[in-house]
Amino acid sequence: MFKNFKDYKYKKYIIGVIILVTSLGFGYGGYFYSLTTKGIVQNTKDLENIILRLENKNIILAKKLQKEKHKNEVFGNQIGKIVGTVGILDKLVKIDKELLQKYSKVYFLNENYVPKELTNIPIDYLYEKDRKLEINAKVFPYLQSLLVVAKENNIDLKIISAYRSFGEQTVLKSGYKVVYGNGSNKFSADQGYSEHQLGTTIDFTTSKTGATFGKFKNTKGFNWLKENAYKYGFILSYPNNNAYYQYEPWHWRFVGKSLARRLHEEKQYFYDMNQRTIDNYLINIFD
Ligand SMILES: [Zn+2]
Repeated sequence: MFKNFKDYKYKKYIIGVIILVTSLGFGYGGYFYSLTTKGIVQNTKDLENIILRLENKNIILAKKLQKEKHKNEVFGNQIGKIVGTVGILDKLVKIDKELLQKYSKVYFLNENYVPKELTNIPIDYLYEKDRKLEINAKVFPYLQSLLVVAKENNIDLKIISAYRSFGEQTVLKSGYKVVYGNGSNKFSADQGYSEHQLGTTIDFTTSKTGATFGKFKNTKGFNWLKENAYKYGFILSYPNNNAYYQYEPWHWRFVGKSLARRLHEEKQYFYDMNQRTIDNYLINIFD
């Protein structure tokens, strides 16, 4: 169109237009840039706020969860405790409460009491082979272990009396008086018989000693029982110089291994121990 721009008469205007367009372009670009930056900054802040809020929510939720977990744990423990208690109660309900009762001059075993389950003692263990003797079925395994170990140690022990019903006791009382004399009063005599009515009590003798019980305290059998009977849950109810009844070295009562061990270790007598302390052993009497 034109040969030389220098000569072009409208060149000032064209340059002016170029400068104007350029500066407008920069201006708009700058404005746009600033808008975008502002937006990003704003968006970032918004996002940060959202994250912060979410984090707070998470913390709150975590705390709630923790609380719930704790509640559940407490609840679980309570249920566990209840289940445990029910188990203990169930076990206690099934255990004969009389088995660890002390029969004192004021507390007698009811005359109608009969053990739930009785079993015959094998003839081999009896002093008199033609007499049928019974024992609480749950106590028998402990008695048998005792007799087996005694035999292994060449200790001669025979059973001369075990479970006796209330009626049998009354009949036997006169017979026993012939052997021991009349040293004990009626009350204390009844007390000793009560333990036999439980079905957990044994009168031991030896093949030689037989019914002359007075001699039993001098036998190897008696000495062995003093050292070992507790391992099988048996204790001497009426030791020498006890305050409750005449000395009966032949008369052994089953009270369970834990209680028998404690009495042996503490050199205590069953009848000297507090009944409430004794009752704690009832639940484990056959363990
Ligand atoms: Zn007896």
